[in-house]
Amino acid sequence: AGPGLKVISTLSVGFDHLALDEIKKRGIRVGYTPDVLTDATAELSVALLLSACRRLPEAAEQVKSGGWTTWKPLWMCGYGLSDSTVGIIGLGRIGQAVARRLKPFGVRKFLYTGSGPKPESAAEFGAEFVPLTRLAEESDFVVVTCALTPATQGMCNKDFFSKMKKTSVFVNTSRGAVVNQEDLYEALAHGRIAAAGLDVTTPEPLPTDHPLLSLKNCVILPHIGSATYATRNTMAVLAANNLLAGLRGEPMPHELKL
Ligand code: NDP
Repeated sequence: AGPGLKVISTLSVGFDHLALDEIKKRGIRVGYTPDVLTDATAELSVALLLSACRRLPEAAEQVKSGGWTTWKPLWMCGYGLSDSTVGIIGLGRIGQAVARRLKPFGVRKFLYTGSGPKPESAAEFGAEFVPLTRLAEESDFVVVTCALTPATQGMCNKDFFSKMKKTSVFVNTSRGAVVNQEDLYEALAHGRIAAAGLDVTTPEPLPTDHPLLSLKNCVILPHIGSATYATRNTMAVLAANNLLAGLRGEPMPHELKL
């Protein structure tokens, strides 16, 4: 945009796509859209988790292809949430909203990681702050809802997946780069973990010949976490108001603190 650029307004809560050091250096103000997309993204995270653990796309495909024949006791079985342990990587706004939605499914225990314990946020779910390794080892479901930062980039890698249970399900609705996709592919293809659900990938869009798309036990969505009509409308209004306030030199409804 050149040297005249004064304000950036992003239609997202994530800001990993912004060159913050340069933005700060140039005194550019940034507006973003936290909170208003939390419910929609948490809802999609739950939908993705259920799709992956109960194999919904695979099962629906069987109906269309004629693979649905006689009733068989173990056909299309998956894993349920009842009495499970759920590990949340990043118990922020969306992470908490996911836990709030999953709790009524009968989850027995919530674990979480982050830069430090958050007793106030965790109390509602009785969630326990644990190191990443313990979260991987003990969770039946891992849900990634952290921000993409240098610390979280590639955090879910071979080492992480090798510590997960063979019956566990991995869900990522944060940013694709938190996951090492080659390592995830290996873990899924060789039965190191049971299934995965991804709303975010590297790159986006994911090439249609990507190896992950060849796996039955991987459900991939095109980054639709916040995609409800109401949420996108609210985000758009907030982003416009951020931009206008920025240009007028007024406080923004939601300004990123740089
Ligand atoms: P918040 O800032 O409320 O939460 C971010 C969380 O990331 C915090 O709880 C933080 O924990 C955690 N985190 C930071 N560093 C680490 C770390 N090293 N290990 C584990 N956790 C860490 O953001 P939101 O909940 O509003 O959004 C989270 C992310 O979700 C966004 O940054 C965005 O990338 C993604 N998103 C995806 C959408 C989609 O369409 N799929 C839609 C909306 C958001 P702590 O406080 O302890 O540091």
